[in-house]
Amino acid sequence: MKKVVKFGGSSLASAEQFQKAGNIVRAEECRRYVVPSAPGKRFGTDTKVTDMLYACYDAAEKGENFKEQLLAICDRYQEIITGLNLNLSLEEDFAQIEKDFSARAGKDYAASRGEYLNGKVMAAYLGFEFVDAAEVIRFRPDGTLETEKTDALLSERLSRCEYAVIPGFYGSLDDGRVKTFSRGGSDVTGSLVAKAVHADIYENWTDVSGFLLSDPRVVENPVAMETITYRELRELSYMGASVLHEDAIFPVRKEGIPINIRNTNRPQDPGTFIVESTCKKPRYTITGIAGKKGFCSINIEKSMMNSEIGFGRKVLQVFEDHGISFEHMPSGIDTLTVYVHQDEFEEKEQQVIAGIHRAVQPDFVEMESDLALIAVVGRGMKSTRGTAGRIFSALAHANVNVKMIDQGSSELNIIIGVQNSDFERAVRAIYDIFVITRL
Ligand code: ASP
Repeated sequence: MKKVVKFGGSSLASAEQFQKAGNIVRAEECRRYVVPSAPGKRFGTDTKVTDMLYACYDAAEKGENFKEQLLAICDRYQEIITGLNLNLSLEEDFAQIEKDFSARAGKDYAASRGEYLNGKVMAAYLGFEFVDAAEVIRFRPDGTLETEKTDALLSERLSRCEYAVIPGFYGSLDDGRVKTFSRGGSDVTGSLVAKAVHADIYENWTDVSGFLLSDPRVVENPVAMETITYRELRELSYMGASVLHEDAIFPVRKEGIPINIRNTNRPQDPGTFIVESTCKKPRYTITGIAGKKGFCSINIEKSMMNSEIGFGRKVLQVFEDHGISFEHMPSGIDTLTVYVHQDEFEEKEQQVIAGIHRAVQPDFVEMESDLALIAVVGRGMKSTRGTAGRIFSALAHANVNVKMIDQGSSELNIIIGVQNSDFERAVRAIYDIFVITRL
């Protein structure tokens, strides 16, 4: 058994959190490869080290004095080192960073130091070998990951160490310059390492006990799911559920390695397994409810639209020509509605409407803004009748007017459009009917 364990920023924000992470790694010998993020927030109003680094480098780039800001970052690490009683000095590293910042080493280099230094602290704390991610993770000049080369470099390098710490979030270009993934990218590093070492499980340690059925900011104490599939996760992440970086799924999915989301503050909880497929029956019919506000609908009406071949294509062409992606397109016999992101659409609104008039000569076009979309997702829906019935009766009882319904033939999800102001009430009503009442 071989496990790759990735710890998020909140799991490594202080010496106390480091100790919890250390206990977790030491509890199982098979936890051999550790991928740390940079120290995150210790309390609500705290600042993540990554954000401190971006701000510090910004000052350096503007030619301002950045010493104090760098010192504050240094203090964050020193507090951890002292709290852990480590015999480790980052003095040389900080001297180098100061030089590199003055020489404008780049924003990515600056941000990557958060993980780099935390990797050093983690390696010293665990007594594991430190492997600099810049040696083993490669990007192309356009910023995309060189997947095969990275895999080859990582597996070769890690075949030579039984236990190692590989900092998350960054790698390098062929010319040696440091390049980062997008924010939250340590999840991707963990996934790449898991693939390269053929891990049995990729454990992703964070501050929640797994994938929650709904957003805790909307629903009080939502339940955590035992198992969800990659496809379900994809649907839910797209609609705003945030648990993992999107790109973290692909490397492990290819290899069939399950991801186990765990809580550093509650290691006794089993967390959520994210898997390719499962025959385990889900506890609830639905696996997740996620949603986003800020959509608008463009409703196009034209009599005899049904007999006009190419109508939909012409309408969508107008959106494409203006660089606007559409979310959903429910239609009737003589009507067609296009859902788009309000902020993308607003500035081009008049051009798009004019374009639609020119392209298809509609009888009229009507717009509505401030709409929210809610995705109700679950592999359990496929074989259960009445799911849609339950959703809509719950919404009716909660006094929510449904503006749009869209269910794909995969039966994996039902998308519902409501007014922004009804969003929270709608999500709670759906949660209650499936989880609390379990009708
Ligand atoms: N430290 C980086 C961030 O704050 C990367 C990560 O934590 O995964 O985005």
